[in-house]
Amino acid sequence: MNYDIIIIGGGIFGVTTAVTLQQRGWHTAVLDPGPLPHPLAASTDISKVVRMEYGADEQYMEMVEAALVGWRQWNEMFGPLFHEIGVTMFTQQPMAPGGFEYESYQMLLKRGHQPERLDADEISRRFPAWKRGAFVDGFYHAQGGYAESGRVVEALLAQAQQLGVAALTGQTAVEIGQEGGRVTAVRTTEGHTFATDHVLVAAGTWTHLLLPALAPVMKSTGHPVFHLKPAQPELFTPPNFAVFTADVARTGWYGFPLHPTEGVVKIANHGIGLRLHPRDDERVVTAQDEQNFRAFLAATFPALANAPIVYTRRCLYCDTLDEHFWIDRHPEITGLTVAAGGSGHGFKFAPILGDLIADAVEARPNPWLPKFRWRTLAAQTTGEEASRHHG
Ligand SMILES: Cc1cc2nc3c(=O)[nH]c(=O)nc-3n(C[C@H](O)[C@H](O)[C@H](O)COP(=O)(O)OP(=O)(O)OC[C@H]3O[C@@H](n4cnc5c(N)ncnc54)[C@H](O)[C@@H]3O)c2cc1C
Repeated sequence: MNYDIIIIGGGIFGVTTAVTLQQRGWHTAVLDPGPLPHPLAASTDISKVVRMEYGADEQYMEMVEAALVGWRQWNEMFGPLFHEIGVTMFTQQPMAPGGFEYESYQMLLKRGHQPERLDADEISRRFPAWKRGAFVDGFYHAQGGYAESGRVVEALLAQAQQLGVAALTGQTAVEIGQEGGRVTAVRTTEGHTFATDHVLVAAGTWTHLLLPALAPVMKSTGHPVFHLKPAQPELFTPPNFAVFTADVARTGWYGFPLHPTEGVVKIANHGIGLRLHPRDDERVVTAQDEQNFRAFLAATFPALANAPIVYTRRCLYCDTLDEHFWIDRHPEITGLTVAAGGSGHGFKFAPILGDLIADAVEARPNPWLPKFRWRTLAAQTTGEEASRHHG
């Protein structure tokens, strides 16, 4: 069986593109060791933040504005997998120029949005779980919230298969065959060869294993995630609580309200992370991570200071050096496209990813793609994602 294109990776980058390319007339297959959604995939989780706040970076805000339209439409199609309960972004010092919250707030106003700026008293009155007086400035923005990411991938996979996309699960790509600078096939660890003229590598944090030439610009970093069982769940339930960032660029901490079905409060750290090998290294949360976490809880959410941790995970980013996505055709190999580099912030764009990546595959002009082009990054390149805590 010949496919017009084989997509390596059934995470959100791969499955959204599979739906779009199949709709554009490509006979498409998704190849993944599975099961899908893959338990170790970054896309597989109970929740991911959907926020339009990106500091002074206007393109990302514009992209999330478009994605929000899609999220609301997907809720019609797939049921309420996107919870638009708003976001709170609070700071321990007054917001100041150059800071993530300040620049985000200014950009929201510039683009006609209506964030509500809150001082320490307003924070305590509206969001009583926050330690009184610990956070003194910031805002609540009603547009935004979180998506149940694993269930979103499941729904898109079902849609893709209904459209005729082949799911080649139980297969791990190990080599991309090429002749005369053109892609010819995908070979798997399981001993199969799938002939094709086009391959999209959407293998997340494993991408640089398949394409070692990308190893200098892409790395795997592991980040701690905690699930807590609150003694006072009402304190962490909207409207008393929203998706939050707690001085995130200075601390890394962010989280979610009580999950409607899982019954837990999830909190994680968007920081430097731990450099790991995506296949060989253990993915565990350390005693030091837990200690740091308890210190954060005591200083921020007293009602959670001693709450039981019922689950932990170290989840891996596909980190580019500048923290922008990598979505482009290979400069030398015809028929090869890469879509990876989610850098800890790619999921929220899901409703627009399919078109964005399909446009790259088809070399169609797209105003958002130049930011994610195949590029040279010096080893000392620093990260540019405004909410990321860089130590
Ligand atoms: C802890 C954590 C928290 C995050 N929080 C947020 C958030 O709040 N908001 C947000 O917008 N983003 C967030 N992100 C980022 C987001 O999850 C990712 O950017 C996005 O899910 C990446 O999707 P992907 O399809 O590139 O990769 P993945 O979802 O990891 O999928 C890659 C797929 O490729 C497959 N694969 C790998 N190697 C091979 C191979 N050789 N052959 C075949 N298949 C292969 C894997 O099995 C997997 O299914 C977070 C990420 C992490 C890790």
